[in-house]
Amino acid sequence: MIRIENLHVRFGDVHAVKGVSFDVPSGSSFGMVGESGSGKSTVLRALSGLNPDWTGTMRVDGAALKPKRDRAFFRRVQMVFQDPYGSLHPRQTVDRALAEPLMVHGIGDHEQRILRALDEVALPAATRFRFPHQLSGGQRQRVAIARALMAEPEVLLLDEPTSALDVSVQAEVLNLLADLQAQRKLTYVMVTHNLAVVAHLCPMVGVMQGGQMVEQISAVHLRSGRVNHPHTAELRRLSTELEEA
Ligand code: ADP
Ligand code: MG
Repeated sequence: MIRIENLHVRFGDVHAVKGVSFDVPSGSSFGMVGESGSGKSTVLRALSGLNPDWTGTMRVDGAALKPKRDRAFFRRVQMVFQDPYGSLHPRQTVDRALAEPLMVHGIGDHEQRILRALDEVALPAATRFRFPHQLSGGQRQRVAIARALMAEPEVLLLDEPTSALDVSVQAEVLNLLADLQAQRKLTYVMVTHNLAVVAHLCPMVGVMQGGQMVEQISAVHLRSGRVNHPHTAELRRLSTELEEA
């Protein structure tokens, strides 16, 4: 579903992504891990059309992406950010937030689709006319996920979708993402700093360091410690220490 070859992204003199390549089969999840500043978000943003200054080849379902994306692209590919405050308008009710993608893409049947979306992400019907600040962090992220799914995309790009949430809520949202993926045959690219999360959800994981993807490793090998690159071993060691702390 996704094929990225030799992607480079520059911000002036900053060479943020240096020749990244990876594939994601349809209906699968690809995880990206790496320390802060290693280029993970920049890869996702280039793929989603938010970073126009890139070179290389990016394909979605075989079609090469052009610098500027059209509406049809955003119907197929949607992004979910770490902080739903950033993606939800503070003065828009949940109802409005969910209706907007339907209007943008000329999809009818609002009432039924909004009710179904709330149900799908397990939000009580009473949240429909609330504002973002009247919801918990987990509920806000559920709204952001529901919103991303309104136009029935095939690909979700998830940038640390649970990092801003309490640990207890993180697992709920990850389980929701796993359920939605299975139901809708979605393809995910997921950035996270949590190796346990990525190993749980993603059969393949790309390890980023200094703008390069230094290793691609299966979740099975990651869990059992069969790593090839020292940076992967280092991330693994740090994450084990964190879990034990
Ligand atoms: P990560 O998501 O892995 O933490 P990012 O992709 O956000 O890393 O950043 C990679 C590098 O690109 C960093 O050096 C960051 O400072 C730089 N960078 C990211 N976005 C911009 C931008 N809009 N303008 C200039 N530099 C940026
Ligand atoms: Mg980031």
